Amino acid sequence: SLQTQHNTTHIFRSKLPDIPLPSNLPLHTYCFLKLPEIPHRPCLIASARTYTYADTYLASRKVAAGMSRLGIQKGDVVMILLCNSPEFVFTFMAASMLGAVATTANPSFTPAEISKQLAVSNAKLVVTLSAHVHKLNQHAHRHFFKVATVDYPPENCVSFPEGEESEVPEVEISAEDAVAMPFSSGTTGLAKGVVLTHKSLVTGVAQQMEGENPHVYLKEEDVVLCVLPLFHIFSMHSVMMCALRAGSAILLIEKFEMRAMLEAIERHRVTVAIMVPPLVVALAKNKAVEEYDLSSIRMVMSGAAPLGQQAEEALRNRLPNAIVGQGYGMTEGGPVLAMCLGFAKYPFPTKSGSCGTVIRNAELKVIHLQTSFPLPRNHPGEICIRGQQIMKGYLNDEKATAATIDADGWLHTGDIGYVDDDDEIFLVDRAKELIKFKAFQVPPAELEDLLMSHPSIADAAVVPQNDDAAGEVPVAFVVSYDLTEEAVKDFIAKRVVFYKRLHKVYFVQSIPKSHTGKILRRELRAKLARIIHN
Ligand code: ATP
Ligand code: MG
Repeated sequence: SLQTQHNTTHIFRSKLPDIPLPSNLPLHTYCFLKLPEIPHRPCLIASARTYTYADTYLASRKVAAGMSRLGIQKGDVVMILLCNSPEFVFTFMAASMLGAVATTANPSFTPAEISKQLAVSNAKLVVTLSAHVHKLNQHAHRHFFKVATVDYPPENCVSFPEGEESEVPEVEISAEDAVAMPFSSGTTGLAKGVVLTHKSLVTGVAQQMEGENPHVYLKEEDVVLCVLPLFHIFSMHSVMMCALRAGSAILLIEKFEMRAMLEAIERHRVTVAIMVPPLVVALAKNKAVEEYDLSSIRMVMSGAAPLGQQAEEALRNRLPNAIVGQGYGMTEGGPVLAMCLGFAKYPFPTKSGSCGTVIRNAELKVIHLQTSFPLPRNHPGEICIRGQQIMKGYLNDEKATAATIDADGWLHTGDIGYVDDDDEIFLVDRAKELIKFKAFQVPPAELEDLLMSHPSIADAAVVPQNDDAAGEVPVAFVVSYDLTEEAVKDFIAKRVVFYKRLHKVYFVQSIPKSHTGKILRRELRAKLARIIHN
């Protein structure tokens, strides 16, 4: 019947063969599988010192012993409120060793944001720096939690947990136990707690790193740049877990500053740069880049937000030795859905603008927005993924979980995209962010990419403005010092169909973005509402 035909066709799988998944191992055991072969190789390169693989494993064990002394047991939640640092890695791995769950948060969150995450995750311990302790008001909480600081502990706090390796308790860990509870970025609404199990994360790393032709080929000699925050799933997975599994060195950059980063890349001969679009744009366009030797970089992976084709190509010209490509992920996805096959050990040719090819041991489909029928190649619809790497569910929210993972196990991403004839995935935009001009849909990301291709436009974002005739029309916020509104409108009008034309251009100093380079359209819509009402 038509129904069964739809069920078996239009499901996309990796070009790489499925592999046996080591999905019964606890996450920390899996991440440290290379340890016996490479105990003395560099693992974490921090400003103060370098930790070898043996050092990193031992330090994690000691933290596990210390957290156990503080009463942390299997199933307990530990909040990591730290920037990129060795202690982040130790605490994360220590939690896994105890069968506990790490929930990670941005240290620059407001006290209210942190409070909320503390409360919903019911964290028993917060590991942070003394400078952030004022954000943790114990009295505002119904439940009691301890606070440990990496530096000297202020009043009512304890020191960074450290015990004897021999004290680490034996814990029985099942693959279905939660190990990490990152929060989604909160780009489109409230950030949601995402429960990831040992099985989901081990699977997610294996899909990239294992097999005769790993989808992402990292070597022991690689030095992987860790400038994106580890509290976000992208860096937590693609840098921390993947690099550990491969036995590569991780260069920890605590705070982003362009020149310091360039200097560190040059000094430590970084080979793999995991980035987000604004960093790719900066590497491609910033003049300072010319003063540094970045020839060691062999691979640049961009993810988390749309990367303009112009920027991608500009970076390729600047770093001719590097493979530049994208990965596509979401916190709920565990996190990767698709990855550039140019990163494989035996790479495939890829096209610029693509966000990769579906990962192995998984199924991907593209469904019609109204009918939910699976669509053939080259037809945009909502991307869905199925595989054992996806989240277990949202924290304490069965309704939201059921609305995201359907009865057949498909995770619905809310992202619109299509698969082309070469199995490459192209994202159009998020369903929620499409601008609806009468019956037409305008993806803001497409207009932003066009705007960014103009040499006098430093940054741009497109949002809907209400309109009596059309319902919504696209308007742009643009960072530019020498263009007029008319010039920007004309530039776009020459390149797009009538309904994608810009109706208004607002010049601004900067575009609000999240730490992973996502445009905060909510803020721009609010700004627009203020402009219109004044
Ligand atoms: P929230 O779900 O709380 O609104 P969020 O979706 O931004 O926030 P994340 O899980 O950090 O939270 O981000 C996942 C989203 O990032 C994806 O659904 C997709 O829209 C976007 N994304 C990820 N990788 C890419 C990419 N390579 N190109 C374009 N967009 C991407
Ligand atoms: Mg999301």
